[in-house]
Amino acid sequence: MPGLLEFDRNCLMVLRRSLLAVAPFEGCALLLGDQDDSNSDKGCSIWNVRLIWPCCNVWEPGMSSLPEGSLDPNLGAELLPSRKCRFALDPREQLQAQRFAREHNWQVLGSAHSHPGGEAVPSVMDHRWAILPSLLVIVAGSGNVRAWWMTGVQPGQQHEVAHLGQW
Ligand SMILES: [Zn+2]
Repeated sequence: MPGLLEFDRNCLMVLRRSLLAVAPFEGCALLLGDQDDSNSDKGCSIWNVRLIWPCCNVWEPGMSSLPEGSLDPNLGAELLPSRKCRFALDPREQLQAQRFAREHNWQVLGSAHSHPGGEAVPSVMDHRWAILPSLLVIVAGSGNVRAWWMTGVQPGQQHEVAHLGQW
């Protein structure tokens, strides 16, 4: 688990710009970099994000065997599953990113996606779909960025990870 997430140079700016460019749809990206575990015994290993790898949101209805949730008629059509409230990373882009990371002695540290109309906190679907444990960075429509260490499929099963970087 990262004690601190450090975004290199303009990574944070690139992340916000690229993810929010596709609003009102959710944008997504992979976070490539390295881990400094030299202080991990003190519980503060630092993960450095060196490169943002923007990905296409390839989510489509029915692509997951997981339940899509039900529409609450009181809350309107916005709750219908769509790329406005779902995201999926293209597996081919993930493979390319992994290969690129290996060539640079980096790893894929985690993923990021946007909540164009919401808060930068994991949704119920984010918990259900998360690979556990994993690093999940969320960018709100306001531009607010928060990083989470996902530990379980239930809402609340997460720890916030402090992050640093130039805006
Ligand atoms: Zn989400």
